[in-house]
Amino acid sequence: MRSNCAEISVIICAYTLNRWSDLLAAVQSVRAQTLAPLQFIVVIDYNDDLLAQAREAFPELTVVPNGGPKGLSGARNTGVALASAEIVAFLDDDAVADATWLEELAKGYSVDNVLGVGWQAGLEKALLQGHAAETVSGSGTPRAGSVSLTGSGRNVDSSPGASMFVRVADGCDRACAFCTIPAIRGPYRSRPSSEVVDEIRRLSGGRQLEVILLAQDLSSYGIDLADRSRLPSLIDEVCSLDEVRWLRLLYLQPEGVDRALLDAIERNPKVCRYFDIPFQHASESVLDRMGRPGDARSHAAIVESIRSRFPEAAVRTTVMVGYPGETEEEFAELERFVEDLRFDWMGAFRYSSEENTPAAGLGREVPDEVAAERYGRILDIQDFIEAERGAFFAGRELEVVVDGVSEEEGYDLVGRSYREAPVVDGVIYLRAPGVTLSAGEFVRAVVTAQEGLDLVGEVRGTGERGASRD
Ligand code: SF4
Repeated sequence: MRSNCAEISVIICAYTLNRWSDLLAAVQSVRAQTLAPLQFIVVIDYNDDLLAQAREAFPELTVVPNGGPKGLSGARNTGVALASAEIVAFLDDDAVADATWLEELAKGYSVDNVLGVGWQAGLEKALLQGHAAETVSGSGTPRAGSVSLTGSGRNVDSSPGASMFVRVADGCDRACAFCTIPAIRGPYRSRPSSEVVDEIRRLSGGRQLEVILLAQDLSSYGIDLADRSRLPSLIDEVCSLDEVRWLRLLYLQPEGVDRALLDAIERNPKVCRYFDIPFQHASESVLDRMGRPGDARSHAAIVESIRSRFPEAAVRTTVMVGYPGETEEEFAELERFVEDLRFDWMGAFRYSSEENTPAAGLGREVPDEVAAERYGRILDIQDFIEAERGAFFAGRELEVVVDGVSEEEGYDLVGRSYREAPVVDGVIYLRAPGVTLSAGEFVRAVVTAQEGLDLVGEVRGTGERGASRD
């Protein structure tokens, strides 16, 4: 899962750092959206107070006073480089404009994007464009044309992000034949719930947030913990925190969607009725070759168990086409499945062989042109369904979390309801004339129209607690 995410090597942001919790939330957000190692360097003017906060927010980082690598202090009188395996550079506009900084920084790193003022808005784009972006080779010197400053001159949003990603477990004990994650990330390891709760409290800065619990296989949370606490009890614990306005769960493996989990979601209105379940395929024979359980009927039963309990539920899935040996009949079964289940959102990937995976040795590769044609077909089906699912919300009032200022002309803000996760799903463009709102605030909005797969709405007031209301 998610191995298809864009890689980001270095992001440089112009930022006057007042609260390290804001930065950490942003870093977490980036980490949550890519499994590729992130390279971060932080360079700022500092004082003892900021340094103490930095050590608290990034306990794993090494502090290198006064600039670090030669030239990194550049135009700065004072600076601090925080270096570790994960390093980010946050510079002010003067420093970003200083080519020496970039040349020094690029040695040993590859630079995909440089973000200026308004980096929060640019971050998402940088993630999505990762591979497409012109990359500055780590061993070379950055070329001016390859560096894009987004949002320069316009402080789109200097407030904290709306969402806090909290990784609650890492690794995976499953053995999907196409996936390298178990080999790269190791066996499944859950963090104790006390640590998760502490992190949310510490990083929220007293705000109420959308908290996103994240793991490759979230439904297995706690399987390795001595106290045997599992995802339902973690949900209860996290939802009891005042800092949590919405709780979103990413990603639920099909076998993990059981009665105990649905009971926990039902008794906690803060949990978004949003289910991201990567079914990957519907044909039993393909799933068998993938090393994954289930078939179209068992998958459909899971979706039905969700929709019968939560009629408003948004269900997202991920499917893979062109898996070795996938016949036209097997693919047709996947098409019927997608048509029948009418997922609110769906991600589709074309199989791509990864070295040292069992799938790489299966043979019977699907020709590229056939895989491409199937990919187009499945997306065409789903586009229609997503538009239809969105139309259902016309005229309804939803609670929306504001992500920031809209870059679409004619709208003031952009946000999401319980049925849209950050980055991967649609958004809601909002008109909010005369209203001052910033990222992270919750509002009530009436959906007035649809723009492609996105919705359009008008702000009617501040939100009420409870992620799932519509
Ligand atoms: S569940 Fe399967 S696809 Fe997802 S991380 Fe584990 S092995 Fe990979």
